[in-house]
Amino acid sequence: MDELASLCKRRGFIFQTSEIYGGINGFWDYGPLGVELKRNIKETWWKTTVQARENVVGLDSSIIMHPRVWEASGHVGNFKDPMVDCRETKSRYRADQILVFKHKTDDSALMFAYPEDEEAPVKKAGKLAKIKADDYESVPLLDIPVAHYNRLVGPDTAEAGTLTEPRAFNLMFKTHVGPVEESANVAWLRPETAQGIFAQFGNINAISRLKIPFGIGQIGKAFRNEINPRNYTFRSREFEQMELEFFIKPGTDAEWHEYWVDARLKWYSIVGLPEGRMHRDVHSQEKLAHYASACTDILYDFPFGTQELEGIAARGNFDLTQHQTVSGKGLEYFDEETKERYLPHVIEPSAGVDRIALALLCEAYRIEWIPNDGGKVLTADPNVNRAPEGYEARTVLRFAPCIAPYKVAIFPLLKNKEELVTKARAVFERLNDRWNCFYDHAGAIGRRYRRQDEIGTPFGVTIDFDTLENDTVTVRDRDTMEQIRMPISELESYIAERVRF
Ligand code: ATP
Repeated sequence: MDELASLCKRRGFIFQTSEIYGGINGFWDYGPLGVELKRNIKETWWKTTVQARENVVGLDSSIIMHPRVWEASGHVGNFKDPMVDCRETKSRYRADQILVFKHKTDDSALMFAYPEDEEAPVKKAGKLAKIKADDYESVPLLDIPVAHYNRLVGPDTAEAGTLTEPRAFNLMFKTHVGPVEESANVAWLRPETAQGIFAQFGNINAISRLKIPFGIGQIGKAFRNEINPRNYTFRSREFEQMELEFFIKPGTDAEWHEYWVDARLKWYSIVGLPEGRMHRDVHSQEKLAHYASACTDILYDFPFGTQELEGIAARGNFDLTQHQTVSGKGLEYFDEETKERYLPHVIEPSAGVDRIALALLCEAYRIEWIPNDGGKVLTADPNVNRAPEGYEARTVLRFAPCIAPYKVAIFPLLKNKEELVTKARAVFERLNDRWNCFYDHAGAIGRRYRRQDEIGTPFGVTIDFDTLENDTVTVRDRDTMEQIRMPISELESYIAERVRF
């Protein structure tokens, strides 16, 4: 992750926000390449989820909405995480993400708290109390009675008894609308885009003539005052969501839920996350919210553990019922055929753009040893600094072409041969009309290829002396590094075929 983060900074994918002032925890900026990557993720989602479907429409609702939206949705009352503080180090933790390494039977032994995505602190425990690891087990912090916290050693300290008892902490960012800061004008930055959709359901239902089942999709920023932002951009305080509310006839929940889990998994394979590293976490009945009939999380094997990219929930008609009750406005759907009036149920696939961007970067990132003259590409051995004799190391981002920030790089073989440059500029301008392309004439051609490999550009087009003779160019494939020759007139269809999704 450190290597990847350093590449992301060096090549302009992701920067710490307001870095010149020391940054601010949980906020990130996307640089020139990162913004393209994110746009491509959103574009493939919007195209396949909204535009390609006749029964799905889009919405762009405001970030700050009437505060009663969040009362109705339950966020004011319930959108809370339990947190514990360490009095010694002043660190703050999500209590539900902390495990405790404790003696199986001895209730007077020291216990050791640690983050759930780390290994049990056997060494630390050994130092502070002579332990036999076999006698110990890991249990959730929330299962430990607060009365026993005096024997509990915090994650970042060697002392027992420094953790406070868990307290509920609302994750919504609070602000005030208008010039006076008083409780009457409190407002919230939305912690999800979904409620904007539910709050506009009545209008869209009235004007769109859509028939159930139909969906409303939205992409936009969401804000959560996460207690412990971590793992690079994975858990941020400002992030983007892509959410669909797919409204269905009550009773058809199970089949539509399954449909959307499958459809979303297909989308992940299109954007370049292979099936083998994707997982479904099907929530058991006890884990479900009282109104939900099913929820499946879609997880990806990140280098820091297997973690959620998206949740797909069958939420019944909980949200519409709440908004209808609290607003006093009817939100029922009228079925023209059966003459029935009802509040539709909903399936909600809710994905995070930033987490998907991070997964795509992790998946694409490779260091390879490439042979100087033909032969097999090797995966670099992380313990060996230099490529073996006859090989050269390259860093490559193997993005799916539809996701890559630049689709094509265009190179004149030499920068000081005017005919080559004129021709190359003409090819660049033609392709750049259609896709985001990169023109580069600086340095040896091999180095130019390498620079593009490092930012994941799938195709490199070189204009050489043969081009001037017969209007053909070479097209180099980033992954195989093979070059083929083709007429300039065929370039567009060749690339179009490969970047489509
Ligand atoms: P987690 O359990 O990881 O906090 P969640 O289950 O609360 O996530 P949802 O409320 O289901 O998340 O939000 C839907 C999606 O929004 C998540 O799958 C994730 O991709 C994204 N998301 C949620 N919180 C964050 C965050 N703090 N940073 C980045 N993305 C987030």
